Amino acid sequence: MPTSTSSRSLELDRIATIAVRAGQPRQDAFDAVTTPIACTATYAFSSSAELRDHFEGRITRDEYGRYGNPTVRAAEQKLAALDAPRATAGSTDAVLFGSGMAAITSALFALLKQGDHVILPGEGYRRTRAFVTNLLARFGVTSTVVPAGDAEALARAIEPRTRAILTESPTNPYLRVVDLPALAALKRRHPRVKLLVDATFATPVNQRPLEHGADLVIHSCTKYLGGHNDLLAGVVVGDEALVSLIREARDVLGGVLDPHAAYLLLRGLKTLPLRVERQNVTALGIARWLETQPGVERVYYPGLASHPDHEVAKRVLSGAGGVVSFVLRADLDTTARALDACRLATIAPSLGGVETLIEQVALMSYYGLAPEERAAIGIADGLVRLSVGLEDPADIRDDLARVLEVVRSASKRAAAGADVDAGADAVARDAVARESATKAGSATKEARHAV
Ligand code: PLP
Repeated sequence: MPTSTSSRSLELDRIATIAVRAGQPRQDAFDAVTTPIACTATYAFSSSAELRDHFEGRITRDEYGRYGNPTVRAAEQKLAALDAPRATAGSTDAVLFGSGMAAITSALFALLKQGDHVILPGEGYRRTRAFVTNLLARFGVTSTVVPAGDAEALARAIEPRTRAILTESPTNPYLRVVDLPALAALKRRHPRVKLLVDATFATPVNQRPLEHGADLVIHSCTKYLGGHNDLLAGVVVGDEALVSLIREARDVLGGVLDPHAAYLLLRGLKTLPLRVERQNVTALGIARWLETQPGVERVYYPGLASHPDHEVAKRVLSGAGGVVSFVLRADLDTTARALDACRLATIAPSLGGVETLIEQVALMSYYGLAPEERAAIGIADGLVRLSVGLEDPADIRDDLARVLEVVRSASKRAAAGADVDAGADAVARDAVARESATKAGSATKEARHAV
């Protein structure tokens, strides 16, 4: 696939080379090997004639920071090359935003109008659903939420007014994997419906939805694409004509990406294949190990035969990703105390970075919902989402062993009919901490402070 990486055009087909070399303009800026940060809000015109040439399309150049920036453009070209179907790369483009949510909201504002209808699978990022069902609803856009994995319900939900199906794959937090070729075939029977796939959890390394027939792919680049927990960004990738509609909406709505963040994103993208391949391997190992642990009621990971979408995953994913969700045999408070025993994994929202992050889903993403509301949408009190980082897999597993030790002590006490008071918990935690400290030594302690 030819790309505009430099004045010498290069045939790029393999993802590791695309990640490092695509979208790297070489024509200017001090012969720098890396793309410089073009830190400017506006661009100078040498004359009014040049301004006319620009507006009348005789020259291509930048005009004002909200409409474009060379560093941001370089990142967009790299992202387009990463997600492009290998046969038709030339007509794929990407548009960057200041966050994943800015990408999602701007894309939907660009595609929909009053009276239109959107279909969403029931599982996915809570804020996306809230945007469609609350905010877009105020502008006269209706929606139907269908149960995750129910292809028949999805087909039934299509109405004459339906203009978009917006699905994640894999989904958050149960990692449901959508049969994208089947969904694309359904969509083709309804030519006015666009299929938008939020592939944040998959990345172009594990899945390229455009190759399966999606119209647009969306990523929160805050996660794997940036990969270092140090930036917020979002991108929409797809056919040039569709992306240019969304770019026009961005230019008006204003959710642009800062060039400093674009530079960090470019830097992060170069190691994307390496990072994701390693995270795939680590997560699969952790998932298999968790399945053998008595303190774990259920593990959700598409790479496991026990996952409801394992067969679909085998067809549409080339790796099952770096997120593992699991349910502890523990109530809300015990799960919270168990996660507090982590010395390596950091309790934080987000995923996809080099640091292992862990969250109790009921207390993080779904905080504020009543227990009955959580139960209604299937968020168990003991549900934990783990995003494996790039630390040594043995250290991540040792950390989870500390979590499981708290669960084991709590269930032992419950079985013995002992009072589960705070003092006893503290003793148990101290015992776990002493045992782990002896095992892991001072290096792990330092890691805890560092993360
Ligand atoms: N899509 C998915 C699947 C997410 O998990 C998130 C955030 O967690 C978003 C979109 C929103 O991205 P951002 O936080 O970059 O706005």
